[in-house]
Amino acid sequence: MESLKEEYLNMESLKEQYLKMREIKAKLQQQGNIECRKCGGMKDKESFSFRNKALEIRRKICRECVKIYNKERYNKNGDKIKLHEYIKYHKKKQEKQQQKQQQVF
Ligand SMILES: [Zn+2]
Repeated sequence: MESLKEEYLNMESLKEQYLKMREIKAKLQQQGNIECRKCGGMKDKESFSFRNKALEIRRKICRECVKIYNKERYNKNGDKIKLHEYIKYHKKKQEKQQQKQQQVF
């Protein structure tokens, strides 16, 4: 009997905690904070970079999570990304050289 009562009280306090958390979350959202889809943290909108600056659309994932994501991606596909950047760099260089040659003639 005693343990049941305790369990019930525990549940009640959990419920209270949950409601309190929801209240805090709603308050933070009212103040313009956004919940990060990845880490679940409530952060001010400046912590979210723009996806489209003209339309003021921001990412759903905070800057820190994006940083971690990029790092993980780089660790996994580092060689591919390096090769891609290498090719891009040399293409640009070639284009510049061609432009210079065109200017000379
Ligand atoms: Zn995050």
